[in-house]
Amino acid sequence: MLEPSTPVQFVKGIGPKLSEILAAKGVNTVDDLLHYLPFRYEDRQNPRGIAELQMGEMATLIAEVRNSGLFRTRRMPIFQLTVGQGRSRLKCIWFNGTYLKDKFLPGQLVALYGKVELNRGELQLVNPEFEILGAEETEEKAAESLEVGRIVPIYESAGQGRLTSRWFRRIIHNALKDLTPELPEGIPAAIRRRLSLPSPGEALWKVHWPTEGESLHDLQSQRTPAHIRIIFEELFFIELGLELKRREQKTRTGIAFELNDHVREAIKKILPFHPTGAQKRALKEIASDMVKPFPMRRLLQGDVGSGKTLVAFEAAIIAIENGFQVALMAPTEILAQQHYFSARRILEPSGYRIVLLTGSLEDDRKRETRRHIAQGNAQLVIGTHALIEQKVDFAKLGLVIVDEQHRFGVMQRFKLMKKRGDATDTHVGTGALARPAEQSPAPGEPDVLVMTATPIPRTLALTLYGDLDISVLDEMPPGRTPIVTRRVGDERSDEVWQFVRKQAAAGHQAYVVYPVIEENEESELKAAMKMYGQLSKKIFPNLNVAVLHGRMDADLKEQVMRLFQQGKIHILVSTTVIEVGVDVPNATVMVVEHAERFGLAQLHQLRGRIGRGAAKSYCILMTGGKVSEDGERRLDALVRTSDGFQIAELDLELRGPGEFFGTRQAGMPSFQVASLIRDRDLLELAKKEATAVLSGPNYEISQSEVDRALWQMRTRWQKTYGLVEVG
Ligand code: ADP
Ligand code: MG
Repeated sequence: MLEPSTPVQFVKGIGPKLSEILAAKGVNTVDDLLHYLPFRYEDRQNPRGIAELQMGEMATLIAEVRNSGLFRTRRMPIFQLTVGQGRSRLKCIWFNGTYLKDKFLPGQLVALYGKVELNRGELQLVNPEFEILGAEETEEKAAESLEVGRIVPIYESAGQGRLTSRWFRRIIHNALKDLTPELPEGIPAAIRRRLSLPSPGEALWKVHWPTEGESLHDLQSQRTPAHIRIIFEELFFIELGLELKRREQKTRTGIAFELNDHVREAIKKILPFHPTGAQKRALKEIASDMVKPFPMRRLLQGDVGSGKTLVAFEAAIIAIENGFQVALMAPTEILAQQHYFSARRILEPSGYRIVLLTGSLEDDRKRETRRHIAQGNAQLVIGTHALIEQKVDFAKLGLVIVDEQHRFGVMQRFKLMKKRGDATDTHVGTGALARPAEQSPAPGEPDVLVMTATPIPRTLALTLYGDLDISVLDEMPPGRTPIVTRRVGDERSDEVWQFVRKQAAAGHQAYVVYPVIEENEESELKAAMKMYGQLSKKIFPNLNVAVLHGRMDADLKEQVMRLFQQGKIHILVSTTVIEVGVDVPNATVMVVEHAERFGLAQLHQLRGRIGRGAAKSYCILMTGGKVSEDGERRLDALVRTSDGFQIAELDLELRGPGEFFGTRQAGMPSFQVASLIRDRDLLELAKKEATAVLSGPNYEISQSEVDRALWQMRTRWQKTYGLVEVG
């Protein structure tokens, strides 16, 4: 008997060698193998006779190989295979079919599936899918095989084609036959009934081996009851874990800040303008968390330019006025510096003491700054994540603000915690900060506010940030003129530079961004520097042009940024380091070179650097050379809309969730079967049902069902994410 946790090498037909190939596909256990789902199904229930084929139809056919050969035409090699059933014969051809040269032997039985086409007066299958059923199989035996006479699952092959779809069929069939019938059921009966979910065992059988007459359409779209059960199950336990975590946070001891008239006055005093309705709403939500006695875990989500910084500063005042310290962590040093400048501009007039803690500080200064922090003199500490996450002693830390620019997903935050070997620490990526017992005499854990710049589609937010409460800034500050976005080929660059000259003459500033996606990529950086040389010497000899890239010395970066902010630099040639949060309202032009190489979200972020003042702004997307189909769609979308949510949705669609969040830093839950794009509906459902379970036991869900669900959830989380601390 196989248990789901049994290593795959013990499945009949696998063994140690092949299990290595499977491991590369992420298939380690029987459970993994059984969740290696067919990506397609073929209706071989009624294989056709050659004589009855009709032009234009899709047909499955079982026939015997007669002969084959490769023909070279002037345009391309064509592989031709003739198969037969008794006296009838049929020709199949594959364009560019050289790879098939030695595949077929006369007498073999093959299954073919493809479109019947008319070619030179004769019916043919063109580029059909095929499977060699083996010479040993006679036509009668074939009738009871796994290959024909039924709806057949088609699997992605593995190991460079060594493990074929046909191989997977047998192996998975073996595994299912030997699988223990006692698969644990973790989904409460009421939910199963409500959603008509089959049992776990039945679902596994049926996704691989659909019963006769099952709708092919439902199968292909993964919406048979069996598919729904398997996908729902995966999402359900993830959501259950997240929801439990959320609730558990509300039982911890936090700091109940006081929000009295004095604090309200202090907030009003700093406001340089009327907050937008969205800003007011967000602050209200944040403030009402902060006065509660458990730690806040809130995400502030808003498009670039929606004014998150101001809201963050307002929250900071609440903590500071209550006698606590605040840490503000930024993803890059430039951004930390910028936060520091705006904090000084906005908060220092009220007498708040602000320090900047960056890696480029001299050791002496660093030590001194740390001392200020430890003694409680510094009220607002601004720095990069890396810096603040190292051991920094706070006298009395009350609020942590993480400006994370969507780089950290919830799973990654959990992983960070684990790395620190602190299984009970459920803080949100705040590192050593969030351990008040050792580090600060604060009466409870600090509040955490996470800010993210890219609008995240709702369903993703539910999953990725399921452990956080969410506030959204969905309204732009007033007085903005919409940005004009144009796309031009780089053969028209002269016109573009002429336009930039005109804008500069009118007193405005411009960015020219060059794609250096990996800051450590030597060749790309070289190209950017060359471009800079050209722009400064040849194209804009009479303007001040400066360059900014990630590998520059931090002091120099700061200097350049400051000069640009002061309007002393007209044109800033830059890599994507300016993508994050830089705020210069007088900059009205953003020229992106090789725009086709950037991701959609990235371009949207770049564009967000302009249109921040009252003057009309222009985003010019230059393309060089051929643009891929996806590239076209990206550029198109940007020209068409500036709605961050629409762009995020499209980005998600084009790239898939892993890419959407940046592959390495994704911190995405790695799903076995679910797809965040295809299965959004099931995700919502899973969230709803998971919440219902945690509100139990009740009239429909018993205590033992709740316990069972939680037990399974923990087992899964532990297996998938290596986490023990959930719940
Ligand atoms: P985000 O961090 O959300 O991208 P910022 O906080 O940098 O946006 O704000 C963008 C710009 O809008 C800044 O120049 C800021 O001073 C300005 N701003 C913010 N809130 C308002 C408001 N309510 N009215 C007018 N301008 C605002
Ligand atoms: Mg910002």
